[in-house]
Amino acid sequence: MSNERIKVAVNGARGRMGREVVKMVLEDESLQLVAAVSPSAGPIDAGTFVGKPETGVIVSATLEQALSGAKADVLVDFTVPQAAYSNTKTAIDFGVRPVIGTTGFTPEQIEELDELCKQKGIGGLIAPNFSIGAILMMKFAAEASKYLPHVEIIEYHGDQKLDAPSGTSIKTAELISQVRQELRQGNPNEEEVIEGARGGYYNGFRIHSVRLPGVFAQQEVVFGGYGQTLKIRHDSYDRAGYMPGVNVAVKKVMTYSGLIYGFEHIMD
Ligand code: NAP
Repeated sequence: MSNERIKVAVNGARGRMGREVVKMVLEDESLQLVAAVSPSAGPIDAGTFVGKPETGVIVSATLEQALSGAKADVLVDFTVPQAAYSNTKTAIDFGVRPVIGTTGFTPEQIEELDELCKQKGIGGLIAPNFSIGAILMMKFAAEASKYLPHVEIIEYHGDQKLDAPSGTSIKTAELISQVRQELRQGNPNEEEVIEGARGGYYNGFRIHSVRLPGVFAQQEVVFGGYGQTLKIRHDSYDRAGYMPGVNVAVKKVMTYSGLIYGFEHIMD
């Protein structure tokens, strides 16, 4: 790769994750902030979001505006699930490599976006979780499910989270399903006295979503076997914890073609 700085656009720059991304980009000399999007912030300097001096990047109201005005290499998107798919498509249309932290994609959408990235000859990443500890939790959980196939996932997030279950829990469930023996758990005659009591059903096991103020992001994968349980748990305390992963992703997407789903696939 050349010594040129990687030009980064940030979508959702005023959001809680977006602000961390703006800060991370401004603090890495090998990256250059070239555009920032916030639908409701107005045309202010992006540095305002993070208490930094003027960056010269004026916030755009739409992604199209931002990408037509700047030659970005990479778009980092932490916005809302309803906009994630169209944002990713827009980035690819502009030939900008998407690094997407926003959750809420269907497998069909991911497949289509992968094809579009390949057609454009650009790399992309959708990662439900950029935290290294969370990735390890998922890997360990998949490993444990080979030996202890009775499993339930409990994920905890703040009460304002829009989607349930979390993207991380779905990703964990997918990884477990790839290696766990097929098994429909629980009593076949089980009845829910209150609807939803047993959580969401996924390939024979359950995912439970807890939503409470004061909680940031946690997940527990509980395995049951004869006379024993095993719990694999990850706790996130701060959004800054995702940034080393986002930083690696911004650099890695410059090096391949196609859309990768899951940060674990680009972690060395
Ligand atoms: P947030 O604080 O609510 O920020 C979301 C931002 O998105 C808002 O600032 C809003 O801009 C902007 N926005 C809304 N609609 C938009 C659109 N159509 N186009 C562009 N921007 C739009 O949320 P957050 O906590 O930062 O989380 C954002 C997303 O990241 C969520 O889906 C969350 O689940 C996900 N997340 C992922 C990870 C991971 O590791 N992958 C980690 C944490 C969170 P305005 O302020 O201008 O209205």
